[in-house]
Amino acid sequence: MKITEHLHNAQGKTLFSFEIVPPEKGVGITDLYKNIDPLMEFKPPFIDVTTSREEYIFLERDGGLMERKITRMRPGTLGICSAIQHKYNVDTVPHVLCGGFTKEETEYLLVDCMYLGIDNVMALRGDAMKGEKYFEATKGGNRYASDLVKQVQNTGKGKYLHQDINCKDESHFCIGVAGYPEKHIEAPSMNYDLEMLKKKVENGADYIVTQMFFDNQKYFDFVKSVREAGIDIPIIPGIKPIATLNHLQLLPQVFKIDLPETLVNEVLKCKNNQQVRQVGVEWAIQQSKELLANQVLVLHFYSMGKSDNIVQIARAVF
Ligand code: FAD
Repeated sequence: MKITEHLHNAQGKTLFSFEIVPPEKGVGITDLYKNIDPLMEFKPPFIDVTTSREEYIFLERDGGLMERKITRMRPGTLGICSAIQHKYNVDTVPHVLCGGFTKEETEYLLVDCMYLGIDNVMALRGDAMKGEKYFEATKGGNRYASDLVKQVQNTGKGKYLHQDINCKDESHFCIGVAGYPEKHIEAPSMNYDLEMLKKKVENGADYIVTQMFFDNQKYFDFVKSVREAGIDIPIIPGIKPIATLNHLQLLPQVFKIDLPETLVNEVLKCKNNQQVRQVGVEWAIQQSKELLANQVLVLHFYSMGKSDNIVQIARAVF
């Protein structure tokens, strides 16, 4: 079922959902299931599964030579989506990237989605490859998420890259896109970023999921600006509980977000990561309660593969 239908059927009740990251190659899926199992108590109508970009690795060869190879460390997004749909009878949302995929590869992936009964995709540009400063479009791939949204919508209507099979009015896919309450790092201004968000919506995006934020006011301001920009599709807030001391450096660096002074001070008082995890849980509970009071459609959690803290938060909130 499409995410927009889930939202419609909820009739204003706030839903619970979460995002997972595929395990590293060779690890197996058992641990992932162990982390999903306790979250099913909160009846998520959908689960997002991220896609990781390919990266370069260097292999030692005879004579002290190094050989550069390209690989994907966490493949299997679509396989995991399908496995989860079957095991838990819940919709899954594979993340589909511009970076690392030609348009043809994207088309085949979307065809696989149709066969697997996957009705939703999250269309994203992806970041620059590890070690590279700027995002470079893959040869033959999409440049921006808005281009990818267009391709997903066209494919969903039967308008394939090199042939029109059956151009129906309604797209097979419900398409999610990213939104940034604190602006995307590369956008020169918030207004510019909102114009680009609008492009994604004009090209067919059905809903927005936000980057993580730790100050709800940033989310509320973002929603206001998005609406003022004339964008009226649903906006789903993304929440990440801080879990380790090194998140203080890692999260701002990787996700280009700010952490509130009070939260930073609370984390710095902790003697170990167990205490940090608890501070993260309590902060996320406060955030979630306020968002719930403001009738957000979904509380969407970035689980990053570990669910004990998300369970604590969901128990306190739902
Ligand atoms: P875009 O919407 O294309 O925007 C990228 C930048 O280009 C912005 O600065 C925008 O203002 C600008 N821009 C957009 N369109 C145009 C245009 N036509 N002309 C000029 N400038 C333009 N990354 C992963 O690798 N895997 C994942 O699974 C993943 N999941 C994510 C889930 C969520 C909810 C979020 C918020 C992010 C996720 N990301 C993921 C990270 C995302 O790929 C990066 O933030 C990336 O840098 C931008 O992606 P985007 O889809 O927002 O890009």
